[in-house]
Amino acid sequence: MKWGIALCLGVVVATSVAEGQTLYEGARVIAGDGSAVIERAAVLVDQQMITRVGAAGSFAVPAATTRIDLTGKTIMPALIATHVHPGFQQGLSYSAANYTRETVVGDLARALYFGVSVVQSMGIESGDLLYQMRDEPVKGRPNGARLQVTGRGIGSPNAGPGGAAYAGIAYEVTTEEQGRKAVAELASRRVDMVKIWVDDRNGRAPKLSAPLYRAIIDESHQRKLRVIAHVFYHTDAVDLVDAGIDAFAHLVRDTVMDDALVAAIVKKNVVVMGNLTTPLKPTFVTLPSWLTAGDPMATLLGAAVTPPALARMQGYYAKRELQAVEGARQRYRILQQSLAKLNAAGARIVLGADTGLEDHPFGFAEQLELQAMVEAGMTPAQAIVAATSRAAAFLNLRDTGVLRAGQRADFLVLDANPLADITNTRRISRLVIGGVEVDRPSLIPLMR
Ligand SMILES: [Zn+2]
Repeated sequence: MKWGIALCLGVVVATSVAEGQTLYEGARVIAGDGSAVIERAAVLVDQQMITRVGAAGSFAVPAATTRIDLTGKTIMPALIATHVHPGFQQGLSYSAANYTRETVVGDLARALYFGVSVVQSMGIESGDLLYQMRDEPVKGRPNGARLQVTGRGIGSPNAGPGGAAYAGIAYEVTTEEQGRKAVAELASRRVDMVKIWVDDRNGRAPKLSAPLYRAIIDESHQRKLRVIAHVFYHTDAVDLVDAGIDAFAHLVRDTVMDDALVAAIVKKNVVVMGNLTTPLKPTFVTLPSWLTAGDPMATLLGAAVTPPALARMQGYYAKRELQAVEGARQRYRILQQSLAKLNAAGARIVLGADTGLEDHPFGFAEQLELQAMVEAGMTPAQAIVAATSRAAAFLNLRDTGVLRAGQRADFLVLDANPLADITNTRRISRLVIGGVEVDRPSLIPLMR
């Protein structure tokens, strides 16, 4: 509601101008904060904000309000992705040379197409490009997810991000002074958090040592920045929690998290990402349902990636060796058990999927991660909280991730109930971002 002041014959008259108010009514509303579902709800949106949420008919609306009947649909907050790597894949090609504005625009459009409204890039960022794109105001209809950055992550030499496309991007530090200097530079660029790698990359490189990561965490906290660790080994995770780490970008991979580690993570409010979907991929012998023609996910992918890229994602499953599959399944069960333990203990799990690794496209990765979280033992309602309000809180976004008055109108309208089947988050009927309906077909040219 906008209040205009009209001057008539010397008398000041306040007139209410109904402008852009829309009532979405009849749908089931999942608020995203774990509160009770409203089965027949109404959501009033004024400009970019939600002004009321309640049972249908429980509050009055101005006569000029646009009404949209969503009977039978479900409304939930748009998804928030806390671990992505934009800019490396164009069609079948995956390389540093692809790292351009056009590629990042495509990745952000792809995220939005799948219902992801915000993405946190996670430390493989060269140059100024992502900083510039983060700070550009959104003009007109949204055509991509909002972006947050960690800039260049910090590791020891050759123990940062693996993969040829990432060579030379991370800070490589061997002294506490270098670690503190890297944090100072990142702080001057106003990163949204600091990423570190604590991993020996299968014995091929020295790990970032405890004195070094303790210095980096200390320097970051002095500068009011939080630190998130890529971790592999249980023993490192234990010491990182003791050192004051704020979040883990992965579960430990060598063993199931023990009770003491889980308890310490809960006690110290450490945020954890399941990051299940890249290790999920090799556990299949044959084509998974979500890549099968006609599946809602495959349909989304058909619009969001090139036909050769989709064919390569499917072709991976044409020649799987049983022994490799069995090993992958054993490693995957470790992750599932850790996630189940963390969830049962009340740990702050958020949606993170290592999105943007090769053939792990934006949006697809998040949609699949939700399913993997539920298969590991979270309820659909818990997975939705992890992907919405808790992810928003983790990213310090105070205006999105929950459907309530005073929040941005950033929501998905789904054709079916994700509480009954989490894969229903892929049955997207509409997507509203900042009160504006996204024209999803218009994103397709940006993605291809
Ligand atoms: Zn990653």
